[in-house]
Amino acid sequence: NLSIKELGAFITDLGESKFRIKQVSEWLWKKGVHEFSEMRNLPKSLIKKLEERSFIDKAIVTEELISKDGSRKYAFTSMDGKLVEGVLIPSRKRVTACISVQAGCNVKCKFCATGQLGLQRNLSKGEIFDQIYQLNQKSQDIFGSKLSNIVVMGMGEPFLNYSNVINALDMVSCDEGLGFSPQRITISTVGIIEGIDLLANHPRKYNLAISLHTAVESIRKQLIPIAVKNDLADLRKSLENYHEKTGSRITLEYILFDKLNDDEKHMKALAQFCKAFPSKINLIEYNSVPELPFVASSEDDTSKFQKFLEDKNMLVYLRKSKGSDIFAACGQLANKKM
Ligand code: SF4
Repeated sequence: NLSIKELGAFITDLGESKFRIKQVSEWLWKKGVHEFSEMRNLPKSLIKKLEERSFIDKAIVTEELISKDGSRKYAFTSMDGKLVEGVLIPSRKRVTACISVQAGCNVKCKFCATGQLGLQRNLSKGEIFDQIYQLNQKSQDIFGSKLSNIVVMGMGEPFLNYSNVINALDMVSCDEGLGFSPQRITISTVGIIEGIDLLANHPRKYNLAISLHTAVESIRKQLIPIAVKNDLADLRKSLENYHEKTGSRITLEYILFDKLNDDEKHMKALAQFCKAFPSKINLIEYNSVPELPFVASSEDDTSKFQKFLEDKNMLVYLRKSKGSDIFAACGQLANKKM
C-alpha cells in the first residue's frame, strides 16, 4: 500500500542501499509477487527484515465463472476473507477489465445487486492494484493480449474510496508500475460531486463516466439515494468545471428501465442536461437481478429513445452488457454463483 516514495523511505530505514528500492519496487509493481520470498535477487537478510516489518496486501482468485459470450468473472478473496469480483470482457479487438473498489457498497442504488449487500469495507490501494495486475495476467494467458481498457464499474463507488482508487490507478499507469495509458482507464461514479471536483484537478487524466440513468430529479433521487446530497444542478456545474479543466468529453451511462425513465419527458430532460458539456451517452440494456422489481425497456422504446437523442446530434451508443448468464453484467455483481 506504500507509494514509491514511501517504499524508498522504508527500505532506507531498514539500513539498505538505494538500489534495493528499485529491486523491491519491480517485484511488487512490475512482477506482482505475493511473497517476499519470491524476490529472488534480494539477500535472505533483507527478505527476513521485510517479512518481520511488513506484508504484501493481496487478493487471491478463488473462483472463475465463464459466460457463453466469453466474459469471465473472478472472485477475489482478500487476506481477511472479504470477497469482491472482477470481470474480463473480451471483444473482437480488445479485452476490458471491469474492477471492484469496495467489498459491497452502501450507496444502495435501487437497481443494483451490489447495493443490496451493504458496505463491508473499502479495498486498499494494494488490493485494487493486485486485482488489476492479476486480470492483466489472465488476459495475456487466456486471450493472448494484455488489457486494452480498464473500467472502474464493478462493486463499490470509487469516489467513496477516492485516495485508494486513485493511488492504485496512478501505480497502474506509471512507468514504475504497469505503464498503462490513463486514457484507457475510465472511472464511473453515480455522481459524487466532491470526487468529480478532485478528479478534475488530478494531474493524471483518467476518463470520467457518470451513472446518470435519469435527468429527472425526483426519479434520480428514488433510484440513487445519494442524489439527495448531490443534486442535478450541482452535478451539472461540477461536470462543466470538469470539462473546462480537462477538456475531456464525459460519458453518461443510462440504463433504460421500462416505464420508469424511457418516456419523452426523460428524453427531453437528458438532452437538456447534456447541453452544458460535451458528452457521449451509453444507453444500456438492463440486466435483471432476480430479487429486484425492475424490467428492461422494450426494443421499440429503446430505439425511440436512441433516435430522439441522435436527431439532436448527440453521440449515442447502445450497449448490451456481457456476462449476464454468470451475473457478471452491469449492476449484477453480488458474489453470486450461477
Ligand atoms: S451502482 Fe455503484 S454506487 Fe450504486 S449501489 Fe451499485 S455499486 Fe454502489
